[in-house]
Amino acid sequence: MRPSSLTSRLKAGVNVRDWPWWRLPPALRWYVATPPLLALAAVGITVRWSEWHAIDLAKFTLLVCCGMISVACTPRIAYGSVAMTRDFVTVWVLPAAILLPPVYAVLMPIPLLALIQWWVHRGIVYRRVFTASTISLGYVCASLLFRAFPPSIAGSSVGSGLHALTWAAVVALCEVVGGRGHHFLIVGAVKLSDPNARMRDLEWNREALQGDFAEIDLAVLITLVLAISPVLAVFAVPTVLLVRRFMMHAQLVAQSRIDAKTGLLNVSTWEREAEGELSRAVRTRSPLAIALVDIDHFKLVNDTHGHLVGDKVLRAVADALTSQLRDYDRAGRFGGEEFVLLLAGTNESDAGKIAERLRKYVAGMAVPVDERPDAPCVRLTISIGVTAMPSGASRELTDLLAAADSALYHAKQTGRNKVIVAAANRDMDLDVGLSGPVELARVDPTAASLCPARLL
Ligand code: GH3
Ligand code: MG
Ligand code: MG
Repeated sequence: MRPSSLTSRLKAGVNVRDWPWWRLPPALRWYVATPPLLALAAVGITVRWSEWHAIDLAKFTLLVCCGMISVACTPRIAYGSVAMTRDFVTVWVLPAAILLPPVYAVLMPIPLLALIQWWVHRGIVYRRVFTASTISLGYVCASLLFRAFPPSIAGSSVGSGLHALTWAAVVALCEVVGGRGHHFLIVGAVKLSDPNARMRDLEWNREALQGDFAEIDLAVLITLVLAISPVLAVFAVPTVLLVRRFMMHAQLVAQSRIDAKTGLLNVSTWEREAEGELSRAVRTRSPLAIALVDIDHFKLVNDTHGHLVGDKVLRAVADALTSQLRDYDRAGRFGGEEFVLLLAGTNESDAGKIAERLRKYVAGMAVPVDERPDAPCVRLTISIGVTAMPSGASRELTDLLAAADSALYHAKQTGRNKVIVAAANRDMDLDVGLSGPVELARVDPTAASLCPARLL
């Protein structure tokens, strides 16, 4: 790290007025600030409660060292491209919450998250502070909950027989409270910053649930092992690293399907999945529609506001498409500022209505160029070419795409900000080159004059 960059970052950090936190909308700003304040209060209260013993400090130091080794070995690729990274930090916090006085549960996330920020992935500081404090709060609650159980069920030693079972069950319950509690607070922040974020899609899939289970399982096992002998923590480190690698594999497979900039399917995944849907539709004699969406005058957005704002607009349009479609439709990024949609079980007339709803929705959007409350907004429009395979028919995907593309071309040629539906009964091979007029039904001929493309 160059000293000059470190100095300039320290200077920027000291200058409170420049903190990006100020640029957040007020509700989110206070939501993000509250857990750190509560965690500070928790430190103050638990420090006063605590009796300090050298053996507790030694156990805490050992846990911090093991946690730091597992954090330092975290591949950088695990951070940055997903909404919530699974870094297994909390598997080191639960043992501190159960086996040491509550103050250690509050303190434990601080060195680990600081190391992530400094060494593994330099994220936005207020987010890191927020995450650390939610972990502190979640696990101090877990620590207090554990102490609320009588020694006959939980207590300071694992014991044997039935007591060992109830002890482990209470520890598992505390992990659920600590882990889910802090997760719940983070989900709240994600939803506040992006009301369209589909948390259910992110959380209720096989990989996410497997990851949750692995995290709970590891945390309980490590706590159990440390309760028997703290030195055994050393054996837990390789296990955590291996589980992380295994979970990373699933994460990378999931990422390889997605276009990183927009969060939609990338073109090869979309094509593969669309082929599957198409043959299913032919087999079950169901209709199916394809739509190509292109942002109008997008180059103007880049030229006026720069590529970063252009990227933000792309993401906003992609989010709009996802939010307006049904779960079983498929949206992909076709390239540049073009998107492709597969509408399963949809006939020509319904596909036209869906596309028109999308067009209106996007025409009503205003994307702020930055996070200031008074930031100017980009307004934009889209053109959509739609085609449909009627029920009982059989078509190739390339033919449907070519027909949707010619419809899109006509939408562009005839004024933009409109939906053109390629008539379903025409010969799909006819006009790929568009050398002559094509029989097209325009869904909304007045759309262009209603919502002209403009930049605020
Ligand atoms: P039209 O209404 O005819 O579609 O006009 P247009 O300006 O949208 O289309 P054109 O093909 O002239 O320009 C597309 C622009 O999209 C040019 C290119 O720089 C921009 N672009 C493509 N991919 C990206 C990207 O990932 N990010 C950003 N910011 N811009 C992109
Ligand atoms: Mg365009
Ligand atoms: Mg284009």
